[in-house]
Order: sequence, then C-alpha cells, then structure tokens
Amino acid sequence: MTADKTTILVVEDEPAIVELVCFTLKEAGWNPIAVHNVADAWEFIQRRSPQLILLDWMLPDQTGLRLLSRIRGDRQFNELPVIMLTAKSMEEDKIAGLDNGADDYVTKPFSPRELTARINALLRRKSPEHAQSLMTAGEVKLDPVSCNVSINEHKIDIGHAEFKLLKFFLAHPDRVFSRSQLLDKVWGDHVVIEERTVDVHVLRLRKALKDAEYLIKTVRSVGYMLSEK
Ligand code: CA
Repeated sequence: MTADKTTILVVEDEPAIVELVCFTLKEAGWNPIAVHNVADAWEFIQRRSPQLILLDWMLPDQTGLRLLSRIRGDRQFNELPVIMLTAKSMEEDKIAGLDNGADDYVTKPFSPRELTARINALLRRKSPEHAQSLMTAGEVKLDPVSCNVSINEHKIDIGHAEFKLLKFFLAHPDRVFSRSQLLDKVWGDHVVIEERTVDVHVLRLRKALKDAEYLIKTVRSVGYMLSEK
C-alpha cells in the first residue's frame, strides 16, 4: 500500500540527517521523499502535494524560510503542515519561523522519537486521517501502520477504497459528509469518479464491517457519517 501511505517531503541538504530522518519516517509507516534544495522542493510540492513537509532552515539555493513564505502565500498549498528543522536554537529564529507560518519546529540534534511525536501531533491536529495512531469506534479497530482492520480483535478483509473511507470516517467521527466532500477528501481532486461511486464503496464498507455496519449512518439527502450512537 506504499502509494497510499502519507507522503512526507524532507527538504534537507545534509546526507546524514536525510538518512536518519527518512529511516525514522519509514519505520513509523510514512512515505518519506527527500530533496536537497528549495527549487526541487517547490517542484515536488506542485507535482505531488505531500501531506507534510520537514523543512531545513539553511539550504544551498535559498533559505527554508523563503520556501515557507512561498507555500503560505499560495492558494493551493497554504494549509500544508510544515515543521522547520533547524540547527539554530536562537529564540529570534524560532520566532521568525513561526511568524512566517511554520506549524512547529524541531531543533537539531533531535531524537527519532521526538520527531515522530511532533509529526503525529501536527497531523492529528491538521489532518487526523494521516496520523499513524490506532483508530477505534465501537468494536472496530484500524491500525494505519499495518493497514489492518479488526472487529473484536478479529482481522477482517477490506478493500483498498473501503479502507481509506473507513480511515477518514474514524478520523472525523460524528460529522456528516456529503458525497462530493467524501470524493474530495478521500479520493483527492486528482481522481475523476462519479458521486454514486461513493454509495458503492459505502455499501461495500458496511458489508466488510459485518455486525459493526451500524457505525456508518446514512443521513438522508445529506450524505454519510460514522457514529457509535
Ligand atoms: Ca542545511
């Protein structure tokens, strides 16, 4: 399911740090992609829209801060979660980063555990469906790292699209989503599929959930929601 993993763009020019960060992110279940300068980073962002960016401060072509300003000034990408990686522990630099729209910063040297915790915290805050922590509702458990879904501790078979749909619902319980919102949030705007395809996947999801199908509610003339009530 690599294609489906949360992509994290690592913008860093120091090989040893790139290696450590990428190893750490892979172990945590994410899909890290490393670039070494601002130009390549901007190109990647436009082509692949990553779910989070780890951004070094000092880069060979421009500063990470310049890239950050560009991201925050862009209509399509201004919401992208960004964590600054910085060797500078000076208070004024941290403030400059946060002023320019960084969501968080990690000061080098950092431990893999600290980095993972910061990323998870930020993803939980900004896009919960990308955090790598166990998600539950009623008797259903979804493990984003192993991509397993279980009901009362028994692993179930679930299709790829249904897995993504369930993960999204679990990240946003008790909220109603229209078919077009689900298409947009679960499938992304790169995919052209019809709204009634959502109904097909909801149907399959309910079937996969067996006795726990009650969790997925139809809200008439609006859409669908996950609720334990
Ligand atoms: Ca650097």
